[in-house]
Amino acid sequence: MFEYPPNMAQSCAELYKLNPAKYQRFPEENNCFMRALYDLKFPSFGLDLVSNMTKLVDSGEPGYSRLDLALYAASWTIDQHMPFASKWNPKPSDNDYIPKEVVLRPPDPIPPNELTKYVKRAAKFFGACDVGITKIDYNWILKNTAKVAGTSNIDGKQIAKIKKSPIELPSDVTNAIIIAIEMDPSGIQCAPKFLETASVGWGYSQMTAISVTIAQFIRNLGYFAIPSTNDTGLSIPLAIDAGLGAQGRNGLLITKKWGPRVRLCKVFTNMPLIYDSPDVAFLKKINAYCKRCRRCAEACEAEAISFDDEPSTQPKCSSNNPGVKKWYVNTNACYGIWVKHSTDCGNCIQVCPFSKTPEKISSEDFWNL
Ligand code: SF4
Ligand code: SF4
Repeated sequence: MFEYPPNMAQSCAELYKLNPAKYQRFPEENNCFMRALYDLKFPSFGLDLVSNMTKLVDSGEPGYSRLDLALYAASWTIDQHMPFASKWNPKPSDNDYIPKEVVLRPPDPIPPNELTKYVKRAAKFFGACDVGITKIDYNWILKNTAKVAGTSNIDGKQIAKIKKSPIELPSDVTNAIIIAIEMDPSGIQCAPKFLETASVGWGYSQMTAISVTIAQFIRNLGYFAIPSTNDTGLSIPLAIDAGLGAQGRNGLLITKKWGPRVRLCKVFTNMPLIYDSPDVAFLKKINAYCKRCRRCAEACEAEAISFDDEPSTQPKCSSNNPGVKKWYVNTNACYGIWVKHSTDCGNCIQVCPFSKTPEKISSEDFWNL
């Protein structure tokens, strides 16, 4: 049972009715990207976002040009060229221009309220739009990592062998800094075509850059830090515990200022920090709004988003993690649309009124902005 700090009236687990008899920490191999590699029952087995890409570029259809793909591909560069980003490297900066005798010192006696201020300021300096801090509820830490360790050929199909490793954070790493990064609205307005994924890809590159640099900042002050993008823990419930927003019908974190038009990353640390807590009033507001709205469900080509009046405890597909009460999204069906468009679609972000990106634009409009 998660023992939350005294300033947290209710935790995300309580607010979304986590049922300990049904809930398990999410195993990484259950996500769609992994299932596409090993699960023959997965509707898009063997397919990925590259499968249709050349065909789309050669089709001449607006929104799938080589120009748009060039931006899309470029946007992921930092993310893809920093495979070490999420390594649990406990060392402070080894930059030759920084004196090691300073960064290797034990922490100075700075009180937690000041450290909290410095960490949040540093995150904003590096490009975050919002930052929250929570004590880690282990329910939101992944059960294990999953890596491809070879393939086997069954009936002519290449099926990945998955190697799992349990995830246990060091015992003194009790705090999580959750960082929100705004995605550029003009790319999101081009959903579900290539330029939407340019906004997403640039968000991922910033997730990598910001989580790594904040972790390094913390290490330079003498503490332990683990940067994390989508690995290690579930970003949305951690962000709710850290007061950054609430989960919407579209399954995404809805933030107050940018709606679901954000990406999330986090840093796990033993640095003593002051916790934020879920914004229960905002959570109730989003719940009430989503009950009436349904714009994301209407815009979803995959029919992956529920039209139900109420959130439910019933998962919609094998990639969902049962045991909480929310609007589950059929992510297996969603992935099929991602494969079809060679993007991550984003219609449910674009139409959400909280995203404040009201009208769609063409890629020509985008390039003329
Ligand atoms: S990304 Fe597209 S397909 Fe997936 S849930 Fe959102 S609208 Fe539906
Ligand atoms: S589009 Fe409407 S129903 Fe969907 S998440 Fe946004 S506010 Fe909720």
